[in-house]
Amino acid sequence: MEIFYEIAPLKKKLAALKLQNKTIGFVATMGALHQGHISLVEKSNKENDFTVVSIFVNPTQFNNKEDLEKYPRNLEADFRLLEDNECDMVFAPAVAEMYPEEDTRKFELGDVAQVMEGKYRPGHFNGVCLIVSKLLDIVNPDNAYFGQKDYQQIAVIRAMVKKYMHGFKGNIVSCPIVREKDGLALSSRNSHLDEGQRKSAVIISQTLFKAKELSDKGATCKEIEEFIKKSIATDANLCLEYVEIADKDTLLTIKESKPKNAVICITVYDGKTRLIDNILL
Ligand code: AMP
Repeated sequence: MEIFYEIAPLKKKLAALKLQNKTIGFVATMGALHQGHISLVEKSNKENDFTVVSIFVNPTQFNNKEDLEKYPRNLEADFRLLEDNECDMVFAPAVAEMYPEEDTRKFELGDVAQVMEGKYRPGHFNGVCLIVSKLLDIVNPDNAYFGQKDYQQIAVIRAMVKKYMHGFKGNIVSCPIVREKDGLALSSRNSHLDEGQRKSAVIISQTLFKAKELSDKGATCKEIEEFIKKSIATDANLCLEYVEIADKDTLLTIKESKPKNAVICITVYDGKTRLIDNILL
């Protein structure tokens, strides 16, 4: 596995591979890697000749300074895990490499970037677009893999590529959520949870699974939402930030009484840790 800290040598290496008609898969991460990230690496390995993983805690997507400072970092362990999982190239740049000067681009993507996370984390998706557009530009992969764990993020990235990256011909590939045995969606932020909070966290996914059952049995959006609010409120560690039953493509709130082509997106504070999860109906 080759490790790159700078853009130029990575681009040189990739240009040589492309001259040999090799296909490149790409996985963008913020490190503190877990099996969720590795599932993307495995898919990329299967579908491409070479896999590049980036590890970069992107400051422009954090709208909360403390969250950025606290974000778990463990580069050496990440390198080992990637090596063990047959990653070919890692790109782990410093902030100054990615942002030699302030990047003032503004991405206007409409509703898809304004609802839910867009509303509760102002500036977050603009920061995501800044970094993902740079990374896609550098790596120019045939396939870029993103997890459905960040459901809205994939929709935003697709919209960004369509509107702003006409030269990009690769595919944005959406991959299923990897969960712990008890259902908790894997997340780097789970490492912030203490034992009690970890127990509480399970309620989030269990609530979503039950919500899907209710929906399958014909419940209305209102009934499903009320069930979710009540279920999260049963645990003293948990505080619901929002729950939305939204159209799975436009991400707009479903107006019809029963959900159709819908995704439930939920954000819950477990103590001070902000956890997100979702389920397709
Ligand atoms: P992050 O390091 O949190 O920015 O995530 C990097 C990529 O891994 C994103 O595309 C995430 O959606 C994806 N990812 C994170 N957690 C999971 C998970 N539990 N299952 C599937 N993909 C995930």
